[in-house]
Amino acid sequence: MALVNEHFLKLPNNYLFADIAKKVNAFKVSHPKADVISLGIGDVTQPLCPAVLEAMHKAVDEMASKDTFRGYGPEQGYQFLREAIVKNDFVARGIHLDPSEIFVNDGAKSDTGNFQELVRWDNSIGVTDPIYPVYIDSNVMIGRAGELDEDGKWSNVTYMPCTAENGFNPELPDKRVDVIYLCYPNNPTGTVITRDELRKWVNYAIKNDALIFYDAAYEAYIQDEDIPHSIYEIKGARKVAVEFHSFSKTAGFTGIRCGYTVVPKELTVATLKGERIPLNHLWYRRQCTKFNGTSYISQRAAEAIYTPEGKEQVKATIDYYMNNARTMYNTLTELGLEVYGGRNAPYIWVKTPNDMSSWKFFEQMLYEAHVVCTPGVGFGPSGEGYIRLTAFGDADDCKEAMERLKKWLS
Ligand SMILES: *Cc1c(COP(=O)(O)O)cnc(C)c1O
Repeated sequence: MALVNEHFLKLPNNYLFADIAKKVNAFKVSHPKADVISLGIGDVTQPLCPAVLEAMHKAVDEMASKDTFRGYGPEQGYQFLREAIVKNDFVARGIHLDPSEIFVNDGAKSDTGNFQELVRWDNSIGVTDPIYPVYIDSNVMIGRAGELDEDGKWSNVTYMPCTAENGFNPELPDKRVDVIYLCYPNNPTGTVITRDELRKWVNYAIKNDALIFYDAAYEAYIQDEDIPHSIYEIKGARKVAVEFHSFSKTAGFTGIRCGYTVVPKELTVATLKGERIPLNHLWYRRQCTKFNGTSYISQRAAEAIYTPEGKEQVKATIDYYMNNARTMYNTLTELGLEVYGGRNAPYIWVKTPNDMSSWKFFEQMLYEAHVVCTPGVGFGPSGEGYIRLTAFGDADDCKEAMERLKKWLS
């Protein structure tokens, strides 16, 4: 008899974005003339930049000729891309990595979900709350998260609240955690971490022999000079941290699929006997078996982001989104709302007025202003009482949505 992995059955059936779509569709059916603007989407909307397109066309043409055709690529990714990553994303910031420490992937979701396979099922995990759902769900699937309590928390997960009260700086956990997930700039709150705060986490991990999974998917949105772009800017981080990057939000690659994971050679975890095992080799071994790589065409596309034209064009699109973020931040602040994020990230995190619940505010905004947001509670218990807006929309839609909120709230 084949038995199911019952851990999968513990996952809540309802997926946040499916719930939202259902409510929006119900509204549209009863209000067929209403023009609904979504500021809830987490996907980008602007097209790929010309430098990327040119590189992709060229790569496609190479596939047409016997001499330049490419089949299976190297499991870790092509050397040309890993070298461009090291040179531009790290050496340029004074971080020296070897291309063998870079693993090209098909996006950060896969690797942030899969990397936990390399540590035992009975490690304890700590997450900032609210959080990108992949971190917890992937631990649920393998049986590490325990059971879902009535308060919406998993029994074996340590939640580190990030709220306005603590300035979205989570406190170090008061009980032992072996694996810590951090994401900065943060999805969903749009807030960032300072170098001093990040140093606290690295030092905690060194002292407690813990492992940090650092999700830097929004690093390209950082505007302030003194905000760290990589955890490896902190001394000692190479011994304790894996870092995930993605070209999805940086360069509109959500449909192309490419990112990378950094696994430094110095990073080790222990066996029960106390022997130290380097994770770089283990991840390489895992990827050789389970990962087919991302296409040659996608990797050439990613390489083009690092050319002078590519850099300029990618920055222009990021500026476009950050302009939306500024419009939203300013309008909502003027309306007297408590607004967070949006300065170094494409997300705005808004406190609901009068302690209204996230879903209630979502519904009112939909019914009265015809604007869709994402209820904060969908990202974890500490997200209750907040909503998330994204800057990834069209600039005109974003302006129109702000006009509607002005009318609605004033
Ligand atoms: C969008 C996102 C990712 C990246 O997803 P891809 O798989 O690279 O498209 C990773 N982490 C967070 C927090 C995200 O919001």
